[in-house]
Amino acid sequence: MRIIVHKAKCQGHARCWAHAPDIFMLDDEGYILPGDVEVAEGDELLASRSARSCPERALEIDPTPAARVESGVDQPKVGRV
Ligand code: SF4
Repeated sequence: MRIIVHKAKCQGHARCWAHAPDIFMLDDEGYILPGDVEVAEGDELLASRSARSCPERALEIDPTPAARVESGVDQPKVGRV
C-alpha cells in the first residue's frame, strides 16, 4: 500500500503524525516531508485512517488496482449482499 503525498497542500496540522508517527515524517516546522509513503504490511489500516484525518487532503491513498489489492480494499465480500 502506498500513500501519495501532495506536499503543496500540507498546512502543517500534524494530524497524520499524531495518529501514526512511525509512518508519517514531518520537517522541523511540522510539514510533511516530500515523497510518497510506502506502508508496511500490517500498518495499512492505521495509515489509511491517518491519511483520511488530513484536513487538507494532502494524503491520498493510492487508488491503483495493485495498491487496492495490497491494502485489502478489493478483497471479495463475504456473507449476504
Ligand atoms: S495532516 Fe495533512 S496538513 Fe497536516 S501535516 Fe499531515 S499532511 Fe500536512
